[in-house]
Amino acid sequence: MATTSTSALSASDASRPHVVIVGGGFGGLEVARGLVGRPVRVTIIDRHNFHTFLPLLYQVATAMLEPAEVAYPIRTVFGKAHNVRFRHGLVRHVDHDRRVVVLGDETELAYDHLVIATGATAAFFGIPGASQHAIPLYSLADARRLRNRLLSSLEHADAVADTAPIGLNFVIVGGGPTGVETSGALSELIKTVIRRDGLHLDPTRVRIILVDMAPRLLTPFPEKASAYALKELERMGVEVEFGRSVVEVEEHAIRFADGERLRVAAVVWAAGVTANGTLASDVQEDAGPGGRVRVSPSLQIAERTNEWAVGDSAAIPNGDGGFYPQLAPVAMQSGRHVAAQIVRQGEGKPALPFKFHNKGIMATIGRHAAVATLPKGPTVKGTLGWLAWLGLHLWYLVGFRNKLRVMINWTWRYFDWPSGPRLIMADAETAD
Ligand SMILES: Cc1cc2nc3c(=O)[nH]c(=O)nc-3n(C[C@H](O)[C@H](O)[C@H](O)COP(=O)(O)OP(=O)(O)OC[C@H]3O[C@@H](n4cnc5c(N)ncnc54)[C@H](O)[C@@H]3O)c2cc1C
Repeated sequence: MATTSTSALSASDASRPHVVIVGGGFGGLEVARGLVGRPVRVTIIDRHNFHTFLPLLYQVATAMLEPAEVAYPIRTVFGKAHNVRFRHGLVRHVDHDRRVVVLGDETELAYDHLVIATGATAAFFGIPGASQHAIPLYSLADARRLRNRLLSSLEHADAVADTAPIGLNFVIVGGGPTGVETSGALSELIKTVIRRDGLHLDPTRVRIILVDMAPRLLTPFPEKASAYALKELERMGVEVEFGRSVVEVEEHAIRFADGERLRVAAVVWAAGVTANGTLASDVQEDAGPGGRVRVSPSLQIAERTNEWAVGDSAAIPNGDGGFYPQLAPVAMQSGRHVAAQIVRQGEGKPALPFKFHNKGIMATIGRHAAVATLPKGPTVKGTLGWLAWLGLHLWYLVGFRNKLRVMINWTWRYFDWPSGPRLIMADAETAD
């Protein structure tokens, strides 16, 4: 979906204030979109030259979608917007006094307004071995690595099936939406490779184990949605274990606090997110909760009226003493809000506080099974919830071609014609 401009502003019009947006995720894109055709110059910087639709990464990891179907070049999004430029690079540092951002190659970019939209990253909580051996789902590279690992394990099990058959344990750590979605999709993948690809594997020796310290799945959802997700996952053959904490991850094993050590083919890390270690945790002397940038109700950073933070990288006060959750709708709405405030400032008007409009949360468990909880309304489950989930994700996916391809893929799977990109994109020796 390329953004178009109605005015003919020139990106080189140096007299206009320069807005530098670091991060082209859900939040950063919305800031830039809101400034298209406005009397500012915009530079959006990202370490990837594409926007990643994180909510569908698990489908790339489980060979339902291709990586290119959930990513879109940021340059193309703003191809026709005359006042928006893209800069490919990693921002390492912000020099607030000199009003410059410093990139990895040491080049500096001066700004009049700065927007931090760098998102978050996987939280490993200092658990030994977790960051080395467990696979998180936070980037396309993670998703591709997980897909390689899953498919390689299955191929290995097939290769030794006649001589020394082995069992396979896949452990998913974290019972939030990502853990639930990945577990359900992995169960469908395994059934498909056995049924359709002739893989020699005893299904009773393949375990998908979802573990969480909490006593229920999907804790942000109402209890009946958690109970439904549990019932559906168990129906799909996923073993769900509550109250279990991981104390160590080894290359081929996982250890729990109760002393159990389990051999594993893969550990998927879906245990939480943090902004610690990202640029966001470095822009203030004392970072906010989870390394996030502390912002005012109007999303400004500390006393700086020209610096802003949005989305997962910002600790956005919710008015009740807490903070809004790190979710795509918060990122998009906060991005739009900052764009509007930058425009207001240019018109000499004061910044307004951010108000989040909660339209509900949803998670899918498998084909025909999803939960969607409206803010004050009912929880929709089953096929209706699943259709709502499909529609919403298609709507927000960036790029018409991607929407079309994903829709075709999903329709294909709906009618149970599962060919799918089950490709190991690595050498056999380095299957990661
Ligand atoms: C696997 C997964 C599933 C999810 N599912 C859902 C869901 O179903 N529903 C939902 O509402 N939310 C979901 N979320 C959360 C949602 O994706 C995030 O809330 C949202 O992406 C936040 O948007 P953002 O713009 O703040 O950050 P991001 O989308 O993470 O974008 C940050 C961008 O900044 C770039 N960047 C970071 N650091 C730098 C740097 N130093 N220099 C240059 N560029 C940098 C990154 O490359 C990235 O493009 C999911 C998240 C994950 C990981």
